[in-house]
Amino acid sequence: MNTIEKSPAVDQSPVGELVETQGHAGSEWLARYSSSLMGVFGTPQRVLVRGAGCLVWDADGKEYLDLLGGIAVNALGHAHPFVTSVISSQLATLGHVSNFFTSPTQIALAERLLVIAKAPAGSKVFFANSGTEANEAAFKLARRNPAGASGKPRTKIIALEGAFHGRTMGALALTAKEAYRTPFEPLPGGVVHIPFGDIDALRAAVDDTTSAVFLEPIQGEAGVRPLPADYLKAAREATTAAGALLILDEVQTGIGRTGKWLASEDAGIVPDAVTLAKGLGGGFPVGALITFGEATSAMLSAGQHGTTFGGNPVATAAALATLHAVESQGILDNVRTVGDYLRNRLADVDGVTEVRGEGLLIGFDLEGEIAPAMVTAGLDAGFIINSPGPRTIRLAPPLILTTEQADRFVAALPAIIQSATAQTAKDAQ
Ligand SMILES: *Cc1c(COP(=O)(O)O)cnc(C)c1O
Repeated sequence: MNTIEKSPAVDQSPVGELVETQGHAGSEWLARYSSSLMGVFGTPQRVLVRGAGCLVWDADGKEYLDLLGGIAVNALGHAHPFVTSVISSQLATLGHVSNFFTSPTQIALAERLLVIAKAPAGSKVFFANSGTEANEAAFKLARRNPAGASGKPRTKIIALEGAFHGRTMGALALTAKEAYRTPFEPLPGGVVHIPFGDIDALRAAVDDTTSAVFLEPIQGEAGVRPLPADYLKAAREATTAAGALLILDEVQTGIGRTGKWLASEDAGIVPDAVTLAKGLGGGFPVGALITFGEATSAMLSAGQHGTTFGGNPVATAAALATLHAVESQGILDNVRTVGDYLRNRLADVDGVTEVRGEGLLIGFDLEGEIAPAMVTAGLDAGFIINSPGPRTIRLAPPLILTTEQADRFVAALPAIIQSATAQTAKDAQ
């Protein structure tokens, strides 16, 4: 469904007049990459030149089934015709205005997000350009939570072990991984990390010096780890009792990824804030902070936060187009159907020890530490997958993935596992 397997070759577009996209091997591009781009991402796995639906092609003409979707970003796959036409026409009409002004797409998107999030009266939206920026805004919101009943300042922010909230300084302070944090200390203070999924530890940690608790309903970077069913409820109770904010990071899990608009939807709670980004713009950079209810929305007032690009007409039009396509094309149903199907089939594959996740955010574990080698073997076999841990593979494909495409991967998986096992053994010698 909705998969467009053809798109115009890049060199037929005006981009081809600026960059010679054809006729250069991947290896040639990578040599230029390493002498011109900062090494923070390591060596890129491939040089990609074109995409259509769930497929992408590299500079050497090889085709891949994209089961990572730009890390949960390409919700509608690549080059979706409706999103592409909305972005192009908005850019040709009004591309950018400063935040001294507003535009119809910005307002319409904010209204739409409040409906999707089932946000109560008085709820508001702030637009950013990425997930980390949405979380920076949420961090500042938390700092504005007034002193507790005791009059003590709320200096403590709680996040979970395994958490990933972004790479800018505030979001990095919320992120748990030492290797990401330590080189950049001191980070903004007051953040403590508590054990994942442990309700007693949470209740013990939240007190009247706590300004906020940050949670991902499913930790993506930690290998697709869903919080236990009652955890969000317990977190809501504990934060409400202490006057702390409950802030849900749905940057990866939001906008249909789990077959619902928000992964937290079924928990039956109203958070104080939700952050969004990744899939929201269907591939175009846009992030958002939604604050729930009047009290929370009033915590950041005029002049206390801002951004030049945030909420620009093109980004907000891209998000409106994405939401419209998801809704009008039955994509949430597709996510549930194909997601359930794929997870069931993965569980039957020899060498797969556990399958986790919801909808099309899927993690599965292997018997040995072969996941990094599986990424390479997957590419050789024509599949883009990701290893957030040595034994774990993450899939976050476009939400338009078909069961046939899922089958294609499952059929190839035994050979990918076999080849990765052999390679890992060889590397260990
Ligand atoms: C990716 C991610 C972020 C950071 O988003 P960027 O757009 O990379 O800054 C934050 N939180 C979660 C849960 C994410 O998955």
